[in-house]
Amino acid sequence: MSSTYSWLDQAIKTIKKANWYRSVKLVERSGAMVEQGGVKLINFASNDYLGLAGDRRLVDAAVAATVAYGTGSTGSRLLSGHRAIHQELEAAIANFKQTEAALVFSSGYLANLGTITALVDKRDLILADEYNHSSLKNGAKLSEATVCNYCHGDIEHLYSLLQQHRHQFRRCLIVSDSVFSMDGDLCPLPQLLDLAEANQAMLLIDEAHATGVIGKRGSGCVEYFGCRGRELIQTGTLSKALGSLGGYVAGSASLIDYLRNRASSWIYTTGLSPADTAAAAAAIKIICSESERIKQLWRNINYIKPHLQKYRFLSSDSAILCIELDRAKTALELEEKLKQWGVWAAAIRPPTAPTSRLRLSIMATHTESQLQQLAAAMEANLPTR
Ligand SMILES: *Cc1c(COP(=O)(O)O)cnc(C)c1O
Repeated sequence: MSSTYSWLDQAIKTIKKANWYRSVKLVERSGAMVEQGGVKLINFASNDYLGLAGDRRLVDAAVAATVAYGTGSTGSRLLSGHRAIHQELEAAIANFKQTEAALVFSSGYLANLGTITALVDKRDLILADEYNHSSLKNGAKLSEATVCNYCHGDIEHLYSLLQQHRHQFRRCLIVSDSVFSMDGDLCPLPQLLDLAEANQAMLLIDEAHATGVIGKRGSGCVEYFGCRGRELIQTGTLSKALGSLGGYVAGSASLIDYLRNRASSWIYTTGLSPADTAAAAAAIKIICSESERIKQLWRNINYIKPHLQKYRFLSSDSAILCIELDRAKTALELEEKLKQWGVWAAAIRPPTAPTSRLRLSIMATHTESQLQQLAAAMEANLPTR
């Protein structure tokens, strides 16, 4: 092939040299137990916190919606792609989140891109936690607003950036994950809200890993911190604890009305498929009626946590538990060693997170003996502090 494209192979070589190379792994089925190449593994690598992705009721809802509406929604929601089930799902999300309204996107990534780019432009300022998810970072970039990162969770730093820069801009948007996806800790939501309110700044938090996990009802960090009723913008995904595919924004009726008119990644894309829409709606119904699932998830998290303290365990208040490691190579080797013990935990490397780590995600459907097997596998293979 022409040398115009030969840089691609060079780039891949460089990625491999740094131990940053990634490839897909074939996983047969989802659930607390999975199979990889004929080997059974206990799954600590998925975002299916409540085990709903394999739930019969979600499957049935997806099938019924497909039979009723067809496989595709055939167009933008503003043209031919709007169905009654979209409306029902959006009402269910708004009710779950206790907001006036909600809007579903084709993915959480697109919800963040669309919302941020609709809210701010060149004239505006974005203040963002340095550990924010890729979708928030790229949304900020795409918006062409001036972006300043504050140190992770550092309210003092955010305060000083507001003092320094806020007055030079028209609008200001503070952006943060609510549960940090590669660390498992929570954003200081009440303090973020106080600062936002005091400085006429909007606040957007991404509840991707909080929805279905955090708070008594599982509706996220806004519920957990008692911040319901305060004005802010919540985004999230239907693809983690809700076991489906898609994203959402929840907030005031004006916000949602505005986004329907200005969010490009919602307007110029096909409406969420009937199957995904119905599965997500079924998941919300289950979460609202079976509080036992969330309680079981937290029993599992609290059962395993004491076993992790002897490693370089990062502070966590969610179902994401991380152990920091020195090098990318160590993380990759550990992932393989743990597999020999029947346990699958994901090795996370830069640039996904600032340092290499082993990331465990706990599910409500893990049994006590599966958690014990995890503890034993770690004991045998992990360096202690
Ligand atoms: C997974 C994730 C997203 C993206 O959601 P998808 O629906 O998978 O596109 C956005 N934000 C955070 C914090 C996430 O972890």
